[in-house]
Amino acid sequence: MPTFSIQTFGCQMNYSDSERIISFLESYQFNFINNIHKADLIIFNTCGVRQMAEDRIYGQINNLKQQHKKLLIVVTGCLAYRQDVQKRLKNQVDLFFNIKDFNKLEKWIHKTFSLKEKSFLDFFSSKKYPTAHKISYLSLTPKYSNFFQAYVPIMTGCNNFCTYCVVPYARGREYSRPAKEIIQEIKKLLAKNYKEIFLLGQNVNSYYDKKQKINFAQLLKKINSLPGNFWIRFLTSHPKDMSDELIKVITSSQKICEYVHLPLQAGDNEVLKKMNRKYSPQHYLKTIQKIKNSFKKNKPHSPFAITTDIIVGFPDETRNQFQKTKEIMKKVNYDMTYISRYSPRPGTVAWNFPDNITLEEKKKREKEIEKILEKTSLKNNQKYLNKKVTILIDKKRGESFYGKTRTLKNVKVISKNKKYSVGNFYTVKITQANIWNLEGEIIE
Ligand code: SAH
Ligand code: SF4
Repeated sequence: MPTFSIQTFGCQMNYSDSERIISFLESYQFNFINNIHKADLIIFNTCGVRQMAEDRIYGQINNLKQQHKKLLIVVTGCLAYRQDVQKRLKNQVDLFFNIKDFNKLEKWIHKTFSLKEKSFLDFFSSKKYPTAHKISYLSLTPKYSNFFQAYVPIMTGCNNFCTYCVVPYARGREYSRPAKEIIQEIKKLLAKNYKEIFLLGQNVNSYYDKKQKINFAQLLKKINSLPGNFWIRFLTSHPKDMSDELIKVITSSQKICEYVHLPLQAGDNEVLKKMNRKYSPQHYLKTIQKIKNSFKKNKPHSPFAITTDIIVGFPDETRNQFQKTKEIMKKVNYDMTYISRYSPRPGTVAWNFPDNITLEEKKKREKEIEKILEKTSLKNNQKYLNKKVTILIDKKRGESFYGKTRTLKNVKVISKNKKYSVGNFYTVKITQANIWNLEGEIIE
């Protein structure tokens, strides 16, 4: 049978989607291989959030097609829906399909590889899903790429239409997976001894299972009550939907990690309005304060981390307005900030705004944010000195082991014992705090 490989770009959601594409193709006896130069078929699971990601993808597709004339290329993900992309790549790409439309992929592989018998419907019904054609692709059983950490998508799509963002166009409206199905997937993972469950969605706090009337806070509670020694993480939260109920569950549940990623994007009210973010800087800061207070009250002995996303150089953003982002950065004391230079995206509302902040100025603002982050990150990391924390070892490089704390701090293990194993929890005593990581000795 044909061999296939997959190139994934962008966010965790894309990586999770790729795990479903792999299991789907394997169910048709396609052989998955890592080496893209030996594959008959390559799936590009693309990201369209910024121009840079987009350009990398064009480059790779061009190179591969030139080296391997007979190679079949399929494009899905955030670029697949765009007419201009389809036009540009029409001579190199054999199929564009929306990630939600596995039927289209199935029809194409049937035709291209002259497959017989097995169909999408069979694929689902063999897994006892009677209403196959109505079911979301999220119900497919994925091929997890890791043996102790798993991505579990709980919802997809977005209804928020931030003016700069492609997600609502690329992924469509919000869809929440039935809670029952999510719990079932997690139970299976726990039975296989998975230690870290990442719940994924573009906007997890608007998760809602209509049939069972279960919101995100209630879903978290259910997952937290499952037996076993495991950690729960989730991405991404929207500041406008961070309810008090949710804050309470996040900050008081034993298995939920003390880590909240709350994208700010900008610190100025006018800019936030133009971004259509639907919250004010005051509301954002109040929410952060509630989260901090709640952590201190419910888990007084555990460190916690708060991280964010910032876009620098949104159209018309003045120095003065940018200054307000910096002020919030200083007030919140973030543990990490993912900074993006504004990149105009075709089809979005902001595409029609002039991209009038120069690249040089965007870079300058990026540096200024980085500088603040370096300080707050180091200050937060120093709080770990001489403390005992649990880490999950996730990497071995040469003779060294690396892991992460519940607060997602990278820890380099300095003890010299080769018997530690990737995928297990250990207690470490932190002996050194750097800007971007910690170092520690394993004590048990
Ligand atoms: N749903 C999440 C994030 C989705 S996109 C949220 O609401 O925050 C991930 C990040 O990419 C965003 O938080 C934003 O900081 C960045 N981003 C999205 N579109 C962008 C654009 N056009 N230019 C620059 N950064 C962008
Ligand atoms: Fe994009 Fe905004 Fe939706 Fe996040 S909330 S995915 S930034 S539109």
